[in-house]
Amino acid sequence: MISFSKKTYAFVFSFLLLFFTKSFAVSSQKPHIHGISNLNIAFENKLLNIELKTPLMDIVGFEEKPKNSRQKKALDIASGILKNWKNVFAFKGGSCENEKILMLTGNENKKHTHKHENHKRLDIDTHSDVRVFYGFNCNNLNNLTVVEVLLFKQFPEIQQINVQWVRTNGQGQELLNKDQNKVFFR
Ligand SMILES: [Zn+2]
Repeated sequence: MISFSKKTYAFVFSFLLLFFTKSFAVSSQKPHIHGISNLNIAFENKLLNIELKTPLMDIVGFEEKPKNSRQKKALDIASGILKNWKNVFAFKGGSCENEKILMLTGNENKKHTHKHENHKRLDIDTHSDVRVFYGFNCNNLNNLTVVEVLLFKQFPEIQQINVQWVRTNGQGQELLNKDQNKVFFR
């Protein structure tokens, strides 16, 4: 359930953009769960803002700072995929054009508070997330009826995506997986 009002949500989203742009620091209140990503979609006038938050583990297979050329390369490849929005989303309707993409990675700097079964190594004591902000300008946002999320093909470690969306005449949430990867707006 979304507890923010629509206005608050839009404000928080703008604030986050500003905050992350300025500080380039990312932190979260609680450790993520590997395999699960989050997507927030906000419609505002002609603007469509989408924020993706995904565990670094799920896109590159490690969470610590890249410390060898193999890890750096893995991060470069993943960044390249995420920064080309057509690898990530397909829209039906709306006539949307990409305006900006901002990508950040960060450590939560917290000890694990959940089980280690998903970790390949047991001595990792930080979680890292990738956050990507996608901003679109849409000529007819009311006609946007479907957003297909293509991440499951790009990153098979992503099992589930929690989607929350807000627009002027409604809001909703969806749980996506590789078999049901579309968000429908009514
Ligand atoms: Zn983690």
